[in-house]
Amino acid sequence: MAGLTREHVRVAVIGSGFGGLGAAVRLRRAGITDFVVLERADAVGGTWRDNSYPGCACDVPSHLYSFSFAPNPDWPRNFSGQRHIRAYLERVTDTFGLRPHLRFGAEVRSLRWDTAALHWEVETVRGTLTADVVVSATGPLSDPQIPDIPGLDGFPGKVFHSSRWDHGFALRGKRIAMVGTGASAIQIVPAIQEEVGRLTLFQRTPPWVLPRMDRRISGVERWLHGKIPATRALRRGGLWGLRELQVGAFTKRPNELGLIERLAAAHMRSAVKDPGLRAVLTPDYRIGCKRILLSNDYYPALTQPHVDVVPAGLSEVRGSTLVAADGTETDVDAIVFGTGFHVTDIPIAHRVTGANGTTLAEEWKGGMEALRGSSAAGFPNFLTIIGPNTGLGNSSMILMIEAQLNYMTDYLRQLDVLGGKVALDARPSAVRAYNNMIQRRMERTVWNTGCDSWYLDHGRNTTLWPGSTGEFKKVTRRVDLAEYTVLRPAAVPAKVTVSTADAGRGSR
Ligand SMILES: Cc1cc2nc3c(=O)[nH]c(=O)nc-3n(C[C@H](O)[C@H](O)[C@H](O)COP(=O)(O)OP(=O)(O)OC[C@H]3O[C@@H](n4cnc5c(N)ncnc54)[C@H](O)[C@@H]3O)c2cc1C
Repeated sequence: MAGLTREHVRVAVIGSGFGGLGAAVRLRRAGITDFVVLERADAVGGTWRDNSYPGCACDVPSHLYSFSFAPNPDWPRNFSGQRHIRAYLERVTDTFGLRPHLRFGAEVRSLRWDTAALHWEVETVRGTLTADVVVSATGPLSDPQIPDIPGLDGFPGKVFHSSRWDHGFALRGKRIAMVGTGASAIQIVPAIQEEVGRLTLFQRTPPWVLPRMDRRISGVERWLHGKIPATRALRRGGLWGLRELQVGAFTKRPNELGLIERLAAAHMRSAVKDPGLRAVLTPDYRIGCKRILLSNDYYPALTQPHVDVVPAGLSEVRGSTLVAADGTETDVDAIVFGTGFHVTDIPIAHRVTGANGTTLAEEWKGGMEALRGSSAAGFPNFLTIIGPNTGLGNSSMILMIEAQLNYMTDYLRQLDVLGGKVALDARPSAVRAYNNMIQRRMERTVWNTGCDSWYLDHGRNTTLWPGSTGEFKKVTRRVDLAEYTVLRPAAVPAKVTVSTADAGRGSR
């Protein structure tokens, strides 16, 4: 594989999921071709390359869960499967001529800001390059998390995480433990239950589950979407508008979600007749506080005679015996962890060293925060796609990614306007003001109603955006130079300061 040593680029994008590929398209559209996309794997797709577990599909309708600039009239279902989403991203890569920019097998090991040269030194496993700007699109749900369970190392059977499915492992007739009840687990359980000999689900907290309004998209609809683009736009607009209308209940009026809770309870009652099992499966927190899940076959799967629900987390492994926190013991042949990802402690943060010589992880030890989800103070010309507080509870992440790509494009435009060798560093006061606004708004949201979820870091929600996608699009439309310090070579701040908020802060 060719090395990358000595290359200098205007922009280095890290990751080739929706975020990285979207960034690449927008860079080309802005006339910037001097960029590379560094990807640790050997193919594009991110989430949709890595998650190939049985039953994997999106839970936002495909016509909304796709790029606005790359519509696909041929989505086969309302909620298309992983194979189709992955193929879509491969097509986007070809359609927009992104292949020449891709560098596979190029895991980024470290990023170091060079204050004198005003650029990033990017060390990858294929060599080192330098870049004026780094766009980090390493994904919010990219690095799997397996809990540290005593005795797991001595388990004699097969162990894997849902996002690293071992397709070589034959499930037929085996005793399988599924640990976790999140979005992946509730897709896996119904997809494998018919094949396995016995399935034991370790449930620490039950999820709220609503019916999944999935169906095949008919040939006529697809024909119409292909021939008359307005029909496609109408469909996408309807899906978007419906979700925008729900935002107020999540972010300001959680009590309104009580009605949805009753719907979910009825959904469970229609499938689970055993009151004992229903009690085990009924959450004790407000719907929406944790991610609402969609499934029509999860509850029916749990009522099968060879499927057991252990209402406790996995606490210890003794040989091939799994011991739950309530003392239940189960012998299994394989353990599948559906235990989520490193979300609030993203690995790339440990690898980025900014202008002050500290890593992003050190700066974020009290919780992640960035200006408009994109820039952290002390990390000039470093933008994150799906950064802090950009996640959603009810709509498509592609809308948030595209909003951040608008911000990225304007950021690069501002650098051009400023001219010469230049960098922008988010002002600490601007980052603080933006995050204070977010945390103030967070107080009224359903995510702060008392449940423990992966949205929270030490009790603070650093992952979700407490508003509508329309609002986020507005706050990321333009880069406000007043929120940045302009850096020139020799680290002398240029005299274009628009705000006085950080006056006296000096040194940059
Ligand atoms: C199973 C599953 C289902 C989901 N369903 C939905 C859904 O229905 N709707 C929704 O809105 N969202 C959904 N999501 C969230 C999903 O992650 C986002 O929608 C979106 O795909 C994120 O895209 P991304 O490009 O930011 O990250 P990713 O798709 O995770 O891509 C990140 C890329 O960065 C690469 N990378 C990471 N670190 C490095 C490094 N150090 N060096 C080089 N490369 C690196 C990774 O290999 C990967 O290719 C789902 C997530 C999962 C896991």
